[in-house]
Amino acid sequence: MTPPLHFSTLAVHAGRRPTPEDPDLSPPIRRATTFLQHPAVHELTDAGDWETPLVYSRYGAPNAADAEEVLAALEGAERAVLFASGMAAIHAMLMHVFPDGRGRIALARQIYGGTTALLSKALTSLGFEVSLFDVRDTADLTAALDEGAGLVHVEGISNPAVAVADLPRLADQAHRAGALLSVDSTFATPVVQRPLEHGADLVVHSATKALAGHSDVTAGVVLGSAARMESVAGYRKLTGAILDPAAAWLLRRSLSTLGLRVAAQCRAASALAQALKERAEVTRVHYPGLADDPGHGLASRVLEGGLYGSMLAFELAAGDEGTRAFVSRLQLAVDAPSLGGVETLVSIPHLMSHTGLSEAERLGVGFGPGCIRVACGIEHPEDLVADFVGALGAG
Ligand code: PLP
Repeated sequence: MTPPLHFSTLAVHAGRRPTPEDPDLSPPIRRATTFLQHPAVHELTDAGDWETPLVYSRYGAPNAADAEEVLAALEGAERAVLFASGMAAIHAMLMHVFPDGRGRIALARQIYGGTTALLSKALTSLGFEVSLFDVRDTADLTAALDEGAGLVHVEGISNPAVAVADLPRLADQAHRAGALLSVDSTFATPVVQRPLEHGADLVVHSATKALAGHSDVTAGVVLGSAARMESVAGYRKLTGAILDPAAAWLLRRSLSTLGLRVAAQCRAASALAQALKERAEVTRVHYPGLADDPGHGLASRVLEGGLYGSMLAFELAAGDEGTRAFVSRLQLAVDAPSLGGVETLVSIPHLMSHTGLSEAERLGVGFGPGCIRVACGIEHPEDLVADFVGALGAG
């Protein structure tokens, strides 16, 4: 294919193409766990190359490789390495940066709770150390880097208050201190932001979310340079968390419609944010697409094509006590803890992702009492607005 092709074209045509020998438009699901070793394969494996030839399913397999090629093309990365979940991908990425199992990470406070838990419950006992910093605060990161952090890890758009990270500034700060920048780009997807173009060294996604997009696949991916990904794939081979062929097939199929789905989700989020802002029952709306959102100027610089993401959060005047009752009045949006699917989901951060945090700690992360997180799906924006406005009005 002749570069540069547009995103929507790559989403359909990157990777495997039908040939006379392999004519299926939709690739077969290849379930084999082991493959014939013949002289051409022996030549490669005898020379130490266990990656190029098909050898054994844990080392690499055709459906995962198909999806990886498309993911790499969409993210603008040299290579992608697929995992059985987002957490397995984050774990492998951390072990790639700190292969001897010790080192300091500057971790944004505005980060998925599972990432914090991985570090605090599993990796600090090995020798990982964490310096927390506020992703919006330059001096705070400087302090974390002064403590010797070798990796800065952030989310480009974070949970739940959709704070936008200034990736070019973060990459610059990290690199000046001799550290790497890794970005969890799950909320943004490559439709809204491609962190490698802003100076990041490594990108991870929970592909369970918009990349797979239909709430029926658990997957994760790490992306970056070929050399880095060789090491990440080597770790995957050792630890075994490769994605199953059927899940990889579903993921690859979903990627063809990623741009359409995410654009529709962003339109829905924008309409909903505008509508919620007008309501007396709502004290605050967090959405970087709103002109008066504190992150709007930055978002307009670092996010793509006038899209501000599919996620928003808002705070009810009724406070925490009003959140469960509000959610129970929604007719379309579903109370479920994920994002990026075709259906709109809501969750209550103080009861779910940020349970146990004091009010002051929640304010530190960027959200106040009565907060509801909304992950927009692809429903018609007018129907979604009517659902939320109806639930507010009936309170
Ligand atoms: N990163 C973010 C931003 C997430 O929201 C999640 C899950 O919700 C993960 C990583 C972990 O992904 P998975 O559930 O696929 O392991």
